[in-house]
Amino acid sequence: MSWKNIFAVVFFAAATLAAQSPTHHPPKPPKSLRLYVFDCGVLKPADAKSFGFDHVAELKMSVPCFLVVHPKGTLMWDVGVVPDSDFKGDGSPVSQGFIEVAKPLKPQLEAIGYEPEDIQYLAMSHYHIDHSANANMFAGSTWLVEQAERDIMFSDKPAPVRSEKNYAALKDSKTKILPADADYDVFGDGTVIIKPAQGHTPGHQVLYLKLRKTGPVLVAGDLYHYNEERNTDHVPNFEYNKEQSLASRAKIEEFLKQSHAQLWIEHDYTANAKLKKSPAYYE
Ligand SMILES: [Zn+2]
Repeated sequence: MSWKNIFAVVFFAAATLAAQSPTHHPPKPPKSLRLYVFDCGVLKPADAKSFGFDHVAELKMSVPCFLVVHPKGTLMWDVGVVPDSDFKGDGSPVSQGFIEVAKPLKPQLEAIGYEPEDIQYLAMSHYHIDHSANANMFAGSTWLVEQAERDIMFSDKPAPVRSEKNYAALKDSKTKILPADADYDVFGDGTVIIKPAQGHTPGHQVLYLKLRKTGPVLVAGDLYHYNEERNTDHVPNFEYNKEQSLASRAKIEEFLKQSHAQLWIEHDYTANAKLKKSPAYYE
């Protein structure tokens, strides 16, 4: 048999095996809530002036993505700053101006056994480019969004920090419009709650998780960017509605006191560096 023929036999054997391999099954649901944190990049702004500060302790910002795995289903929360399609596939990081991303999102999901098609719900804290880059990947999920947020995302008028092409497929997604003035209990047992916190954008929202061992955690989207913003009236100069932001912050700070939840500021580079990253998880 020639090398060419051997290659052909091996190739067809492999192709047959691949065709026969069982279809993908996601991991079995866990008995209690889990939270995975993915590395979706770093932002390196030149200064903190657009956030109202001459100086902050750490200028760099982390960009995390999150997977919530509940016994009854899964929720992706925030999906990065650079779409996976911008990666060359040779393992090199993507660098675009002040954005640096070391790894695409999908392989991080696959490393723990999930394909994007396995994800039941998609929710983003808000539509800005650094939270929505891979939204199209989850167009098959049920999208959890406030009407005002959806409206500005698909508005004909220009809107700040928007990259429509990265989430265009959501337009046809199964969509659950969340109340603008009430919490939304995603799995109905009080452990995964989306809370309205408008201001940064018209429908900005935050995520409250009741984790069995870790305790309650509030994943705060861009309610704050830097820890220095807490207990001040400094908001970014690209805020949709400053008064609304300050009211949302006051409401969430009150909730943190009552619930004793930890506040996770997504862009807090120093705090994010200390978080366990997937495949490790919080439970
Ligand atoms: Zn952001």
